[in-house]
Amino acid sequence: MRIVASLNAMQRLALRWKRAGTRVALVPTMGYLHEGHASLIRRARREAGPRGKVVVSLYVNPTQFAPTEDLSRYPRDFLRDRALCRRMGADALFFPSDAEMYPGRDQGRYSTYVVEEALTRPMEGASRPTHFRGVTTVVAKLFNLILPDISIFGAKDWQQAAVLRRMAADLNFHGRIVVSPTIRERDGLAMSSRNAYLTPAQRKQAICLWNAIREARRIIRSRGRSVPCSSLVRTLSRGIELNPEAKIDYLAFFDPETLVPATRVGVGTHFALAVRVGTTRLIDNARI
Ligand code: AMP
Repeated sequence: MRIVASLNAMQRLALRWKRAGTRVALVPTMGYLHEGHASLIRRARREAGPRGKVVVSLYVNPTQFAPTEDLSRYPRDFLRDRALCRRMGADALFFPSDAEMYPGRDQGRYSTYVVEEALTRPMEGASRPTHFRGVTTVVAKLFNLILPDISIFGAKDWQQAAVLRRMAADLNFHGRIVVSPTIRERDGLAMSSRNAYLTPAQRKQAICLWNAIREARRIIRSRGRSVPCSSLVRTLSRGIELNPEAKIDYLAFFDPETLVPATRVGVGTHFALAVRVGTTRLIDNARI
């Protein structure tokens, strides 16, 4: 597996692969890899085929963090990540620096961003107003540098995947976007690099997100018909708030493709939630 640190080297490698007709699958990550990322890399390996190339990018993208967020303490472990990528059969690990990705940004000499203006509005976009601008910008840059035929994203970040699909379609990026299922801990907590922030007591309470998903499913299935969104939100909120360190950011029900908010919830409605447990903000989502 090659470690590619410079943008120039990455672009040259990508062009060489393109000219040779080699299929390239990309898995963008911020590192501190876990089994959720591993499942994306395995999927990329399958999609690329035996003669194709799998690139994992490892970059903690500063533009998707607000100044008040956890950029400086975001967990990092390059050696462990490199070993996992090797084990999963990646061909290249793209590991760029801030200085090359956003040259002169601190001096105001970086000024081009990609903005999606509809799907980014609710949920994560409402809570983190500059977040998706950073995500779409960095992913557009990765697409230009790596020229992937296929890119794998996790269903864990459902809204992000929808936004990136829209961006790729609107800006005519070549290549397909695949969304791969959420991988969970044994008790149901969605795997996340940020779970490392949780104290043992908070880790126990963090299961409240998965419990809310299960409870929503149970209610809808047992009623056998759709339920008004507002009453379901009230019921689920009460369950979450039983946890002393849990603070709800949002509970949202919506159409899985368009992200348009639902007024009633039935089988097939999508549910996403964000909850702060202590100082750690956790998100999850699932089909009801
Ligand atoms: P991150 O490193 O958290 O930015 O995530 C990189 C990619 O991995 C994104 O496409 C995420 O949606 C995906 N991902 C993160 N956690 C999981 C998980 N538990 N299961 C599946 N995919 C995940």
